[in-house]
Amino acid sequence: MNQLKEKILEQLSEEELEEKVKEKTEKFSGMLNKEAALFLIAREQGIEIEEKDTVLSELKKGQTVNVKGEIISVYPEREFESKGKKGKVKNILIKDNTGTAYLVLWNEDTEKILEKDSGKKIELTEFFVEEFNGKKQLNKRFNGKFNLKENQKTKEIKKINEIIDGERNLTIKAMILREFPLKEFESKGRKGMLKRIELIDENKSIMLVLWNEKAREKLSEKIIKISNVNARKGLNELELHSTDNTEIKELEEGKLKEYCINFFGKKELNKVIEGNRFIAEGKINSLNKTKLLFNVCPECGKSIQEENNTFFCKTCGQILKPEKRLVVSFELEDETALINTMVYGKKAEKILEKTTKEIEEKTNEIILEEIITELNEAIKGKEISFLAKAKNNSFNGETELVLEKLL
Ligand SMILES: [Zn+2]
Repeated sequence: MNQLKEKILEQLSEEELEEKVKEKTEKFSGMLNKEAALFLIAREQGIEIEEKDTVLSELKKGQTVNVKGEIISVYPEREFESKGKKGKVKNILIKDNTGTAYLVLWNEDTEKILEKDSGKKIELTEFFVEEFNGKKQLNKRFNGKFNLKENQKTKEIKKINEIIDGERNLTIKAMILREFPLKEFESKGRKGMLKRIELIDENKSIMLVLWNEKAREKLSEKIIKISNVNARKGLNELELHSTDNTEIKELEEGKLKEYCINFFGKKELNKVIEGNRFIAEGKINSLNKTKLLFNVCPECGKSIQEENNTFFCKTCGQILKPEKRLVVSFELEDETALINTMVYGKKAEKILEKTTKEIEEKTNEIILEEIITELNEAIKGKEISFLAKAKNNSFNGETELVLEKLL
């Protein structure tokens, strides 16, 4: 038997209680379930009801609960008509440490929480739990009350792995791993621009899409604090999208290395674990004899396929003119081990201190082996430190490093 009922039965007989439950349900024309009715009766009897907060992961259909949470997202209100009367309804996604749920507001209440309230803390008292499409909903009925709390402290900085689909006005601190080319497009007769940027913090990365004016920002190779971005699911993964209010601040320059060492940690080469990012330090032992230039898609930078002199990119389709991309493989050495390291594109140019074009021109003059020997002489013994990601080389099964950022 439920605790509340037990308490009421200390004051009323079974019959009296049953009568009262019937009375209540009739009064609310069937809209009230038994638990909610018990709640109202207990209140009338002056029984003290323990006002404990319920966490969102433990909401159960039919309960009346008190909840403390944070507004993630406020959806536009919808109008509806029921029995000839017009009404409004608004859904609000909230979260706490354990999960998320929708808060459903009706009619004049819909005006009390607006989109700008995203990120604010909210307290709900005596909300009724329902379920819709497998998702818990909190409905304000009868004695329900809610209370918005103004944010006292400055906006919380989120870790990338804490971001939830639908979250708005987020602030994150991250490092730019890659910047993709600015793209122009036309939609509904209007021209637009977008730029994708891959951001990373600790061990997780996320794509940030900057729209229109924001896409023009010059950002490469920086640590940024970015505020007022929205999270939503892209084709495969969660993405961040800029809004009109998005602000991007560069953190102090010249601190990149320090920041990275704090953030990712340094590792000796014999302690490398596949899948991890860390700061590697060592010297270049020798350049491997591999093809240096590859055809890639000029749009997305991915490798392409060639058939009868026609080039195809899996993502972008047919390509008129492929781009050459530098791919360099070398052995890195520290006191503990020797490990193969791959480096691509601009970063490979930095390692070799040659541009892709210079290498391309050389390939017309001398054979690859000679180029490698020449380059090897120039870079052998060079000390480098960089942000590395350890991965498994699927051809030989060995662990290798990918140089993600030179420090
Ligand atoms: Zn492509």
